[in-house]
Amino acid sequence: MAGQTRPCPVIAIDGPVGAGKSTVAQALAQRLGYRYVDTGAMYRAVAWKARAEGVDVNDREAVAAIARAVQIEFLPGRRGQHILVDGADVTETIRSPQISERASIVSAYPEVREAMVALQRRMGKDGCVVMEGRDIGTVVFPDAEVKIYLDATLDERARRRYEELRRKRERVTLEGVRQALEQRDRRDSTRTHSPLRPADDSTAIDTTSMSVKQVVGEILKRVPR
Ligand code: C5P
Repeated sequence: MAGQTRPCPVIAIDGPVGAGKSTVAQALAQRLGYRYVDTGAMYRAVAWKARAEGVDVNDREAVAAIARAVQIEFLPGRRGQHILVDGADVTETIRSPQISERASIVSAYPEVREAMVALQRRMGKDGCVVMEGRDIGTVVFPDAEVKIYLDATLDERARRRYEELRRKRERVTLEGVRQALEQRDRRDSTRTHSPLRPADDSTAIDTTSMSVKQVVGEILKRVPR
């Protein structure tokens, strides 16, 4: 049976950009007192490190070497979690559109995925964790006790991402955000290794017209307690 050897559940939340994964996963983790793991931030961390080292994002071997060597830590902060890459706090820097683009490129390299998946499995091995990403229910924890696939219409997802970037004073247009998002979705869904897709045994939730509270409530109903 799934998760028989774990003392506490793994909650896997997958879905495309802007489906609401981060907000929902953080709220859920807080509510349950579980650890929250943002796996997208880990691919962003690799992309950030490559850039900091002057490594070309298209140089697969060099990026793979970075992924194997990099130290990624999540630390609790006053306003949410902080992410440290080899000791540098990159919490804000990794959220830029440039790093989004690069993260989506490096995450297609199998060697990078292998290194990140190994870290993610270690972080979640004892359960009591809410892990969000693209392949958590399909690849990282196929035996997760709860598997959720969040989605929303492209218009709504673009609107959410646009507002998030505007709040951070990024110079973006709604149309530009929408196009970047479509491209990232396409890359994530069509790559050979661990493409974005719902696990066969996942519960799909369309968050287009739902509040965060409603989505969290739907997921909580499925958490064994
Ligand atoms: O979720 P977020 O937008 O921060 O993820 C950044 C990129 O990392 C995604 O576009 C996707 O290409 C990649 N990713 C992935 N697998 C995960 C999480 C993120 O390939 N589990």
